Amino acid sequence: MSEYSAWFECINGCPTRFNLTEVIYRCPTCGDLLDVKHDHDALRRRSGPAWIKLFEDRYRRNDFPYGSGVWGKKEWVIPFIDNENIVSTYEGGTNLMWADRYGKLIGVEDLWVKQCGNSHTGSFKDLGMTVLVSVVKQMIAEGSPITAIACASTGDTSAALANYGAAAGIPAVVLLPKNKVSPAQLVQPLANGALVLSLDTDFDGCMALVQEITNEPTIYLANSMNSLRIEGQKTVSIELVQQFDWEVPDWVVIPGGNLGNVSALGKGFLIMRDLGVIQKLPRIAVAQAANANPLYLSYQRDFQTFEAVRAKKTLASAIQIGNPVSYKRAIKALTQFDGVVEQATEAELADEAARADRTGMFNCPHTGVALAALRKLVDKKVIRSDERVVVISTAHGLKFANQKIAYHMNELEGIESAHANTPTEIAADLGKVKDAIRKFSDRARALGTGRG
Ligand SMILES: *Cc1c(COP(=O)(O)O)cnc(C)c1O
Ligand SMILES: [Zn+2]
Repeated sequence: MSEYSAWFECINGCPTRFNLTEVIYRCPTCGDLLDVKHDHDALRRRSGPAWIKLFEDRYRRNDFPYGSGVWGKKEWVIPFIDNENIVSTYEGGTNLMWADRYGKLIGVEDLWVKQCGNSHTGSFKDLGMTVLVSVVKQMIAEGSPITAIACASTGDTSAALANYGAAAGIPAVVLLPKNKVSPAQLVQPLANGALVLSLDTDFDGCMALVQEITNEPTIYLANSMNSLRIEGQKTVSIELVQQFDWEVPDWVVIPGGNLGNVSALGKGFLIMRDLGVIQKLPRIAVAQAANANPLYLSYQRDFQTFEAVRAKKTLASAIQIGNPVSYKRAIKALTQFDGVVEQATEAELADEAARADRTGMFNCPHTGVALAALRKLVDKKVIRSDERVVVISTAHGLKFANQKIAYHMNELEGIESAHANTPTEIAADLGKVKDAIRKFSDRARALGTGRG
């Protein structure tokens, strides 16, 4: 047994605690979401510097499971789980890239991009799914009747669930909105052997159905209303602070859809501060697609009210969500972190992703939303040019190759691609090839090397 404990507790503070291996997603008293709480008194018996030393000793080493970015922080995540039940693909440990050229372009001197998409299934969803599937494996080992894990998804959650399910040998069921996920996102759960239900609805429709299905105690719910996932995702803030040698940045910019990830980000910073690992908190900016912007609209009303919207089609398909399940948690986090919300139109997100690609990134559209929002916040002087800023890049650009090709071919409906780059088709002739290279070099020189 671990000397540390953790449990579920209602986000509104209803008094009952629930075991993390119990099949429960909502507070039986008020019906709201549950959070994972840790015994901070017990955790505080180890000093901040001692936690730092422990995490440093484990980081990206080979002692299973502690080399994982998530399980290296096991005591803060799920302390009691048996290591033999942990289902890990060595997630986390993603690079924090210094975006020097792009930063200069938009007027931020100290800009960094946390590349969460450089991971096993190509998005940050791995961080939460390793935790959820590991807990389910422990539940089954302890005699639980669970036969499958299910989720609704805009693409990346289903890829992560199918993958960790396959690694654990636990069947996965994924509900996807038909024709609304990319081919790369569709092929992942197919390849990993999940039951892929392609439904004639949107994400919010899939979400409503999966909540009904998982009323059965044999089918476990893997969406982020299940806060086990938040526990894994919160390690992204711990890891990025670790990558700055335990210094806290001034701002973190993060794209938000169902709003679980921004809540997780906040939770990671709060536990670090509470346990003496850091002394200050960053400010947080949530970036939404203008076509799916309920949090942005609520922010305009100073969070006095929150109303779901009908999400319109957006290139940033993973955040095409009108009724985010974690909006209360997100508003709480934004209030604690002096946060702001900004939005980006389709043209803004596509152009900004492409502009940043020209400086050595390869962005997914959600990261495009975050970058476009960052640029607006810098232009409005909400974010100052001397502040250290981290952008959370949530998925790998290769998952969205089709729409990126369409951008460069200028084939995206309603968008004039400002940074399109098309293949130059010429004969296989030395003179023609040399001509093409000369034109290319001349144009680059005319634009200047510092320009995007
Ligand atoms: C899930 C996802 C998001 C949104 O995270 P939420 O927790 O739903 O706010 C953003 N980008 C990508 C690529 C995602 O897969
Ligand atoms: Zn309650």
